[in-house]
Amino acid sequence: MSEHLENLEHPENIKKSEASKKQSSPKKHRKKRDAIARFNLLSRWRVRLRKRLRQLKKLTIIALVILIVGFLLPERTVNPVLGATDKDWNKKSFWYYPWGRSGAHRGVDIFGKKGQPVVSATDGFVVSVKDRSLGGKTITILGPKWRLHYYAHLNDRRVHLGKWVRAGKIIGHVGRTGNAVGKMPHVHYSISTIFPYIWQRDNGPYGSLKMWYVDPMPRL
Ligand SMILES: [Zn+2]
Repeated sequence: MSEHLENLEHPENIKKSEASKKQSSPKKHRKKRDAIARFNLLSRWRVRLRKRLRQLKKLTIIALVILIVGFLLPERTVNPVLGATDKDWNKKSFWYYPWGRSGAHRGVDIFGKKGQPVVSATDGFVVSVKDRSLGGKTITILGPKWRLHYYAHLNDRRVHLGKWVRAGKIIGHVGRTGNAVGKMPHVHYSISTIFPYIWQRDNGPYGSLKMWYVDPMPRL
């Protein structure tokens, strides 16, 4: 026992124990510092995440409002070929089958004189102005209810991409561009929907595609 005490009080032992204290103290300190740094980092991440979630919530609400407003906007429609009467299109035109490369005719052909004014059938944004092999000179306008109004075979176009147009505004003139070359001048007019109407699907020719289209004839 006395030998043990002696050992403890031996100057060499005291030095050793102090040295070990000196070693353990910075170690503990470092650990504490690391823990604080980790905690701070986590807090920063948490704050950032909360901020991002708030932004995401705001964006989702804005998107939902735009979506709902789009559906609620009244859809005022006019005949896109100025002066056309119901003798200028065939009543069986919509989803007529078989119809060339498109399979079924997804719109209505409104016949007119070359150069007869073509107006926008609804209010909306011009979302596409394109030259296509089948459609020739075409315009697509995004109107109320998230529906796309497509005008093809135009002779010329009077609107540019991104323009807001009112129903009845002249957007071009009747022509026979695209695969209407050599045929009677007419406008191919179709209405498609961004949000599909799945209840419109049926087992007829190209019936699964019907959910993307609206029959334009009742609106003419
Ligand atoms: Zn057509």
